[in-house]
Amino acid sequence: MKCAHCKKSFSYFQSMKSTLVPKVGIVCPHCEKTNYFSAKSRKQNSYFTLIIPVIFVVLLLFDIPVYFTIGITGLFALLTLFIFPFVVELTDEEEPLF
Ligand SMILES: [Zn+2]
Repeated sequence: MKCAHCKKSFSYFQSMKSTLVPKVGIVCPHCEKTNYFSAKSRKQNSYFTLIIPVIFVVLLLFDIPVYFTIGITGLFALLTLFIFPFVVELTDEEEPLF
């Protein structure tokens, strides 16, 4: 995750924090200018968020034990959270989603 203004990288912790805290703009720790998630990143984020309950339901349908289903779903949610700061793109202005 890189600042769209000064091109400096955010630390992993900073990226994770801005991914977790739902707010519109992310302030760069280096130049203190506001960045926004690109439309592409916001779409990817919503796909990932949609996939999690889908996995949960699919596993339930296959008669897999509930604790296992919760475990797999939780693991996937954590994995998504872990990968997101690596794939997210920032822009210097807010893009329309569609
Ligand atoms: Zn910056």
